[in-house]
Amino acid sequence: MAKIAFFGLGNMGGPMAINLLNAGHQVKVFDLFPAAVDKLVALGATTAATAKDVAADAEIVVSMLPAGKHVKDLYIGTEGLIDVLSPGALVIDSSTIDAGSAQETAKALQASDIAFIDAPVSGGVAGAAAGTLSFMVGGSVDAFSKAKPLLEVMGKNIFHAGDVGAGQVAKVCNNMLLSILMVGTSEALQLGMANGLDPKVLSEIMSKSSGSNWTLDVYNPCPDVMDTVPASNNYEGGFMTDLMVKDLGLAMETALASSSSTPMGSLTRSLYSLHQKAGNGKKDFSSIFTAFETK
Ligand code: NAD
Repeated sequence: MAKIAFFGLGNMGGPMAINLLNAGHQVKVFDLFPAAVDKLVALGATTAATAKDVAADAEIVVSMLPAGKHVKDLYIGTEGLIDVLSPGALVIDSSTIDAGSAQETAKALQASDIAFIDAPVSGGVAGAAAGTLSFMVGGSVDAFSKAKPLLEVMGKNIFHAGDVGAGQVAKVCNNMLLSILMVGTSEALQLGMANGLDPKVLSEIMSKSSGSNWTLDVYNPCPDVMDTVPASNNYEGGFMTDLMVKDLGLAMETALASSSSTPMGSLTRSLYSLHQKAGNGKKDFSSIFTAFETK
């Protein structure tokens, strides 16, 4: 069983750390919120006074933090875990951040013989709790092979996308496409409803026709078409609009850096940004459906 240090016990990191504990690993945890740490300690994790103390004897470090600056600060900046990690240690960063920050962190750690993979996830809070996340990994084949058994404890689908940063690129490509599908599905359903169609009937027709896609088939944005989706729960739970706006911002940075044309992604970023500013940031991203209401 591995000695793991886990940083960032929020909505995603908390349940991921619990799954590692339940699989029998020795998990030492750290978060800026004491209550998040206490919860894990009550379940069998250990902790220490400082981030460096938590990481000092770890074989593997996992982090699940808000943004690139937090990841850089933790490993190679103000918090400086690079000073205490042993040569041969492996860092798995599952935060959704820009590929550049992942590459910069990996390069600095590599100079101290510490391996790094970026391993952002898809599947949300429910997937984190159920241990069914999809991991999109960037890093060396060796580091990927070493990380895979741990990732399999927290997830169901584990993909090696390429070198460091490739996991983050895969993640923003996926979420940009997801946002486009969600906006298109919302638009089509509202058009049908405005012209007298029952959204359940229209959903069934499109789902068995060429308009079929994930948002229509398993995450329908129209209330009461499906029982267990956020749309039928006042758009609570699921994947917040705030996080979609963050990911679309990262997608636009990635597009700029590579001179890629992403007109649909650019449009959905603007739409989601307006939707967020209209007070929907904490609602599930399928709530964009309401922006197309005709009355
Ligand atoms: P969250 O805000 O719930 O949790 C982040 C945690 O990190 C907080 O508890 C915070 O205190 C802690 N933290 C910040 N700086 C720290 C530091 N230096 N040391 C230790 N802990 C620190 O966020 P979340 O929803 O768990 O998301 C985490 C990451 O996962 C983000 O990058 C997000 O984009 C990504 N993500 C989230 C979802 C989702 O549905 N919530 C889905 C996929 C990916």
